[in-house]
Amino acid sequence: PLVLGIETSCDETGIGIVRGRTLLSNTIASSMDEHARYGGVIPEVAARAHLEALQPSIEAALAEAQVQLDDLDAIAVTSGPGLAGALMVGVGAAKGLAVSLGKPLYAVNHLVGHIAADIVTPDSDPLEYPTIALLVSGGHTSLLHVRDLTTDVELLGETMDDAAGEAFDKVARLLSLPYPGGPEIDRAAADGDPKAIRFPRGLSKAPDMEKHRYDFSFSGLKTAVARWVERCEASGEQVPVADVAASFREAVVDVLVTKALAACADLGVPRLLLGGGVIANKRLRDVAIERAAAAGVTVRIPPLSLCTDNGAMIAALAAELISSGRRPSTLAFGADSTLPVTEIQIAESPME
Ligand code: ATP
Ligand code: MG
Ligand code: FE
Repeated sequence: PLVLGIETSCDETGIGIVRGRTLLSNTIASSMDEHARYGGVIPEVAARAHLEALQPSIEAALAEAQVQLDDLDAIAVTSGPGLAGALMVGVGAAKGLAVSLGKPLYAVNHLVGHIAADIVTPDSDPLEYPTIALLVSGGHTSLLHVRDLTTDVELLGETMDDAAGEAFDKVARLLSLPYPGGPEIDRAAADGDPKAIRFPRGLSKAPDMEKHRYDFSFSGLKTAVARWVERCEASGEQVPVADVAASFREAVVDVLVTKALAACADLGVPRLLLGGGVIANKRLRDVAIERAAAAGVTVRIPPLSLCTDNGAMIAALAAELISSGRRPSTLAFGADSTLPVTEIQIAESPME
């Protein structure tokens, strides 16, 4: 099926077009520049930016895919999780398109969309099941057991406080680096010693590991960095930014990879899929690939344009749902900012 996907859960306005498992276009407009001066995504600003970007983005995606609106078999949209106002703009646009064109509409889960990104990755082998997926971004840090993309996605664990990308952003601020902090910390860490400071690995010790084996916590790490910086400043020393950045990054990467591979080992799943904007971190990719190889686990990483929020992954998920015989969503759905990952599609229409 030829599907156009709309993604507006955070700061990216993503429009993607797929034909089955073939990616035709993936247009991404970000309002990050507008949020940068506030040091975080401002929901109202994001919502208005989506409204402005949607029409031109849809036109650009259609032009690049060389298809017309009338050619489409279906429209797909992220209904959650994400920022309520931002989601609402995309949901409204998708409903408007579907109704005016008389096309079926699929309301799908953003997190499961991140997994579907793998399916439209050009020149990749088909995704095999089951697979463990680690999704790390500014808004989520989730470990999933994927038995089937369209029917069976289980949440193994998630962050109890900050998301991994959020931790990068907050620690960057502590080090007086600009927002978004991920790329800044990465740059600063290049000249640092990752072993200089032993920062804590959240929820990794014995009692926590029993209850929170697959959960993450980054707030203790952030506090540890804050204390370290304060101690330097109090004693009049210069903060060794490169060493702090490298040691912090190592702590995040270590705990992400350790827990993901623990899930692979426990569940006997020799496959790990990575997704989310934090995958831009090369150290994370390198450590994951190296340690996975040692553990006999195959790692899959879509290209960055499919790892950060995008519309192609939403279209891809809907295309899979259509191919597996799922009916479209009714119009009786809205934005659901806390949609659980088990709800792969919402408001599927009843059988006739
Ligand atoms: P969502 O959580 O809904 O997927 P988001 O917009 O918060 O959306 P992304 O756009 O996928 O998330 O990713 C942005 C996050 O990734 C930011 O927190 C940013 O700091 C982080 N990030 C970007 N590049 C890097 C990097 N090289 N290293 C670490 N973190 C990075
Ligand atoms: Mg983003
Ligand atoms: Fe996302």
